[in-house]
Amino acid sequence: MDLTRRPRRLRQDRVRGLVSETSLDPSDLIAPIFVDATTDERLPIESMPGHERVPIEQSVARVEEVLETGVEAVMLFGIPESKDAEGTRAWAEDGVIQEATRQITAETDAYVITDVCLCEYTDHGHCGPLEEELRSEGHGERCAHGHGATLTVDNDATLESLDRIAVSHAAAGADMIAPSGMMDGMVAAIREGLDREGYEHVPIMSYAAKYESAFYGPFRDAADGAPSFGNRRHYQMDPANAREAMREVRLDAEQGADVLMVKPALPYLDIVSNIRREFDHPVAAYNVSGEYAMLHAAAEKGWLDLEEVALESLLSIKRAGADLILTYFAEDVAEGLSRNR
Ligand SMILES: [Zn+2]
Repeated sequence: MDLTRRPRRLRQDRVRGLVSETSLDPSDLIAPIFVDATTDERLPIESMPGHERVPIEQSVARVEEVLETGVEAVMLFGIPESKDAEGTRAWAEDGVIQEATRQITAETDAYVITDVCLCEYTDHGHCGPLEEELRSEGHGERCAHGHGATLTVDNDATLESLDRIAVSHAAAGADMIAPSGMMDGMVAAIREGLDREGYEHVPIMSYAAKYESAFYGPFRDAADGAPSFGNRRHYQMDPANAREAMREVRLDAEQGADVLMVKPALPYLDIVSNIRREFDHPVAAYNVSGEYAMLHAAAEKGWLDLEEVALESLLSIKRAGADLILTYFAEDVAEGLSRNR
């Protein structure tokens, strides 16, 4: 037996830090915030303990709480005061995200990233206006209202809306735009819109490989964005596919995405790792609501130590190759990191 090689030598307390390959810093984290135009008080989100929907006038206070923990960036999601088939409140100048962004950027130093999609703004909950699917067999979704048409999201009409939303967010002061709808050509459409209106300096973080995942469940309570019929598998990716993710991501990179995101994170670390190897862009991973909720539920039962599993989850996402992580744990983990310094 050859025991001249002993990896345990480097696991002694005083050397562990020196040889640590991955580190986590509050500046790696982005905290998602829910701004709700339908409420005038903070509403706890039951399936996401510690998170709330806040009214527009509380959005600055909410962001200040995030900044106090050492996290410097927030991602804004909006719940509009009303919805329609086209999602027109998504690009309204006095829309929920536009108002919140103006206030937050005027009063804080937070780096403000805005989610650009239509599902929270359409009354049917899909990520764009609908059209009848021409090749109906097995592709579209039967409309729940039973009028026989097979419906799907109209990709190219959605691109026009995404252009308007992105420009309206940039005009309100958004620092970065994050399209999440998985429409073909969305990054190019938004880049073109931003450049045309003089926002060449505003980067795009594309949800480049976004899977049709059951881990989004709690978010749909939070953002009130569950589709009223069918599901999103016509535009979000099949969890079975890894090679397709590379094709998706390559298209977004070619269209000018500045940051490439994978969503969800933990069940898709292979995708994070593949993208890290293939591209030199910053890679983001979205540690989604279900990943957060399941750890909280287990911790509530006393089965897991919440702080430790949260930290280990985020560390594993970074180790897989993510540079930045969107996570509902941002504040708690950032506080823990500064406490242990
Ligand atoms: Zn959407």
